[in-house]
Amino acid sequence: MGNTDCIFCKIIEGKIPATLVYEDDQVIAFKDIHPKAEVHLLLVPRTHIPSLNELEIKHEGLISHMLLLLPHLAHRQGLQAGFRTIINTGRGGGQEVDHLHLHLLGGNRMPGF
Ligand code: 5GP
Ligand code: ZN
Repeated sequence: MGNTDCIFCKIIEGKIPATLVYEDDQVIAFKDIHPKAEVHLLLVPRTHIPSLNELEIKHEGLISHMLLLLPHLAHRQGLQAGFRTIINTGRGGGQEVDHLHLHLLGGNRMPGF
């Protein structure tokens, strides 16, 4: 059971729709509802970890898995020229959804810093 107030847990449980592009036993990836670039995916662990602040040593296999998946997801989206990965942590870091997620952006309309 996920966190009942968490929108990403609801997506994981199929209670609200999302455009899935990848899933396995540990993670899902889906299209961001307000894309900030031509390709904008969110890679999300199935387990409800609020942010990097709550990541523990026991999650090292999971976070490694997520990082190693990124180039595969990017290539499958046609991002041969490269991609950008963003992790926002806490309100001061711009985090709006309190379920750990990696943004994967690429293609046209890439935001600058
Ligand atoms: P954050 O600011 O927390 O790093 O990013 C949250 C992201 O989740 C935002 O880019 C926002 O557009 C996306 N998002 C928020 N709610 C939903 C939703 O219900 N479905 C999808 N697909 N994306 C969402
Ligand atoms: Zn959650």
